[in-house]
Amino acid sequence: MAVPKSKISKSRRDQRRSHDALKASAYGECPNCGELKRPHHVCGSCGYYDGREVAETEGVV
Ligand SMILES: [Zn+2]
Repeated sequence: MAVPKSKISKSRRDQRRSHDALKASAYGECPNCGELKRPHHVCGSCGYYDGREVAETEGVV
């Protein structure tokens, strides 16, 4: 097993971790039904994309 030659200082460790934070994923309003949807994805609520229905919509029974 490879063994580190020297201890990573708190500063270097924390600099490495400066990129680790997760960002909240982007959300936008569906222009068809107004639900929140992710940009460039079919709307999960109405199945619309680019102004037309492209996916089956699960009807609320
Ligand atoms: Zn929609």
